[in-house]
Amino acid sequence: MKKHNFSAGPCILPEVVLKKAAASVVELDGSGLSLIEISHRSAAFVEIMEKARNLVLELMGLSGKGYEALFLQGGASLEFLMVAMNLLEKRAGYVNTGTWSDKAIKEARLFGEVLELASSKETGFKNIPKGYNIPKGLDYLHLTTNNTIFGTQFQAFPETDAPLVADMSSDIFSRKLDYSRFDLIYAGAQKNMGPAGTTLVVVKSDILGKVSRKIPSMLDYQVHISKESMFNTPPVFAVYTSLLTLEWLRDLGGIAAIDEINAKKAKLLYSEIDLNPLFEGYAAKEDRSAMNATFNLTEPKLKETFEKMWKEAGINGLNGHRSVGGYRASMYNALPLESVGVLVDVMSDLERKA
Ligand SMILES: *Cc1c(COP(=O)(O)O)cnc(C)c1O
Repeated sequence: MKKHNFSAGPCILPEVVLKKAAASVVELDGSGLSLIEISHRSAAFVEIMEKARNLVLELMGLSGKGYEALFLQGGASLEFLMVAMNLLEKRAGYVNTGTWSDKAIKEARLFGEVLELASSKETGFKNIPKGYNIPKGLDYLHLTTNNTIFGTQFQAFPETDAPLVADMSSDIFSRKLDYSRFDLIYAGAQKNMGPAGTTLVVVKSDILGKVSRKIPSMLDYQVHISKESMFNTPPVFAVYTSLLTLEWLRDLGGIAAIDEINAKKAKLLYSEIDLNPLFEGYAAKEDRSAMNATFNLTEPKLKETFEKMWKEAGINGLNGHRSVGGYRASMYNALPLESVGVLVDVMSDLERKA
């Protein structure tokens, strides 16, 4: 039986996507060849890349607005430095909302002055900082829109005159947003889009080409744009599988449709966390993430019983990140509402038995 997969990443993908991706490894669309044994310059793959890049922009409502979508490698972790290398001339601002922002700040400091404008470190990253001052004239302002580890998510974005850069690794394509407020968005594929191995970058081209340093070709967004994301051999399987997920999302009704489903899942789980006296949420209520719900048992002695119960119910991947402990239920796009129902039933069963 297929498990209810709450894993934080790599994580659940739609079953139809997995089946089609698996079949393509044996034979791509009746071509007599495997997806992974054809040239990336073949008409078949060039079309896959083109479709994927266009569909990204279409889903985000960014087609024809000066943006480019790139499928790169190196994970979101490489973007931490690529962003700074391509955009940081004098001074950039970062909001520190947890482990991933911390890492982004560390890499950016190799290239210029980085102002940590606000941090929720003091509260154990339980909340999203608000009401801080953003100086004028920054090269860019960087945010991590969803904090995968601590379970917080920006519900509103700060006003700034600087280009807005966002690490959206764990909430990309999950909610309705005015994506045109962002000038550069990046995300490792493996949370909401596809398998590990490719990183999506969506960038407004007019913010590029303004730094004075020399940028190595592989790290230069402008090079990747001019080569239509085919400067070198792209990770063909990861790109194709991402395309299949994006098509699945489009056929479902796009971001507006998944936003509603994700909101239902989050409401169902957070209501149980709030009503069941055996559980308490980790993140501040107003900043809770719809993607990663973090919570704890109020009676630690029930840990073993709870673990036995959720494992027996076919649930996978519920343990919190090693740095936080407790539990983390990741409810990415492909996780059905039904799986959240199963988890909520286990939680209320525990209350009845305890
Ligand atoms: C998972 C994650 C990363 C790291 O991504 P890699 O692709 O493994 O480098 C970075 N930022 C956020 C918000 C994440 O959730």
